[in-house]
Amino acid sequence: MRKYVIMGVQGSGKGTQSTLLADDLDLVHISVGEIFRWHVKNHTKVGAQVRRVVAAGELVGDDLVEDVVGTRLQWHDWNYGFIVDGFPRNRRQAEFFLESYDIDGVIHLDLPDEEVRRRVLARRLCSRCGMDYNLIAHRPEVEGTCDVCGGELVAREDDTPEALATRLRDYHEKTDPVLELFRRKEYVVTIDARAGKLAVQQEIRARLGLPPHTA
Ligand code: AMP
Repeated sequence: MRKYVIMGVQGSGKGTQSTLLADDLDLVHISVGEIFRWHVKNHTKVGAQVRRVVAAGELVGDDLVEDVVGTRLQWHDWNYGFIVDGFPRNRRQAEFFLESYDIDGVIHLDLPDEEVRRRVLARRLCSRCGMDYNLIAHRPEVEGTCDVCGGELVAREDDTPEALATRLRDYHEKTDPVLELFRRKEYVVTIDARAGKLAVQQEIRARLGLPPHTA
C-alpha cells in the first residue's frame, strides 16, 4: 500500500505525473480540483456552491473540501494505495489529513512562477473526455479538437491571468507553509518540474525508490 500526496503550483504537471504514477502502480488518483469540476459540469448542489469560487481561482472553504476528500477516501477502492492531488492546500487541511492517514511521500513539483504563467495560459482541456493539451508542449493534431475523441478543446475557466494571479498568491501564502510542515516530517521529495514529462516521472520514481516507468 502506497500513499502519496503531490504538490506544486498550477501547471507544474501534477495531473500528468499523478496519472502516470497511478496507472503503473494501480494507485487511485484523487484530484480535488477534478472532483469540483465534475460537480460544476454536472450541476450538482456542491457544483452550485463552488462554481464561482473555482472560476475565480479562489480556494473552496475547508469544511466542504474536507468533506469531499473524506467521502472520496471512504470509498476504500484504493487497494494498492492512492495519490492525492491538489490537497492539502493549507495548514488546516494538512492537519485534518495527517490525523487520519500516514503518508509515504510528498512529491513536490517545483516550477518558477514565470514558467507557470507561460504554461497555464497555454493549457487546453477536452470538453468531452477531459484529455489535457498544451499549445506549447502538446498541441492537438487539428487545432481546437481532441486527438482522442474529437471533442472541442477549451481553456479551463480558471486559467485566466486574473485567476492565475489569485492562485499563485494563495499558493505562496497558504500552501508553501504546508510544504514546510511536511518537510519537518521528512516526507518531501522536491523535483525540478521544468524538465520534460517523462524525465520528471523518472526522477520521481528514482527519488521514491520505485521502479522506472516503462512506456
Ligand atoms: P486544481 O485543479 O488543483 O488547480 O483546483 C482547481 C480549483 O479547485 C482551485 O482553484 C480551487 O478553487 C479548488 N480546489 C481544489 N483543491 C482545493 C483545496 N484543497 N482547497 C480549496 N480549494 C480547492
